[in-house]
Amino acid sequence: MPRRVLTEEQMRQWLLENVRVQDECRIWAGAVDSWGQPVVMWDGKTYKARRLLGRLLGLLTDTTHLSWTSCGDRRCLAPEHQRYGTMKEMCRAMKRRGVYVSGAHRSMLSAKGRAPNAKLPITERRTVLRLLSEGATHKEIAERYSVHFTAVNKALQSWERATGSAVDLGEIGR
Ligand SMILES: [Zn+2]
Repeated sequence: MPRRVLTEEQMRQWLLENVRVQDECRIWAGAVDSWGQPVVMWDGKTYKARRLLGRLLGLLTDTTHLSWTSCGDRRCLAPEHQRYGTMKEMCRAMKRRGVYVSGAHRSMLSAKGRAPNAKLPITERRTVLRLLSEGATHKEIAERYSVHFTAVNKALQSWERATGSAVDLGEIGR
C-alpha cells in the first residue's frame, strides 16, 4: 500500500497550522524532544520543526546555522519569530533580548523571567517546580519564600513565558 507523504507545501502548512496561537506566538501543538524543541515526522524521518520550517520558508539556507526564536519560546513556530545564524549571532541576540533558549548558558536567564518580586527569582524555578510536583500548594511555597501566595503564580507564569515549561518538567521526572 503506497504511503501518502506530505508535499513540501503541505508540510509547510502543517507546521504553521498545528499550533496554538498565543499572543504573537504560534506554540507547537505536536511532539517535542527532550529539550522541549518541536519535532515532526516526515517521510519516516524526525525533523526539528523550527529548522524544517526555516528550510521550507527559505530562511535557513546554511545547515551549520543554529536556530532560535526572537520571542524566547522554543516551542514557537511563528515565521516572524524564527531566527537562524551562527552561535555568535545567537548569543548576541540572547544577550540583547535577555531571553533563554535551549543550550544557552544559565547566566543568560532573562530579566523577563525574573518575577517583579526578587524573592522568587527564576533561579528557584527548578525547586518550585519540584515542590509543586511533590504536591506542595502555592500557599506553602509562598510561606517558604516569604512572599504573598499570588506571587507564586505570577512567577510561574513569567518563567513559563521566558523558558517554556516542557524541558524542566521532564527533567524533574514527572
Ligand atoms: Zn514566538
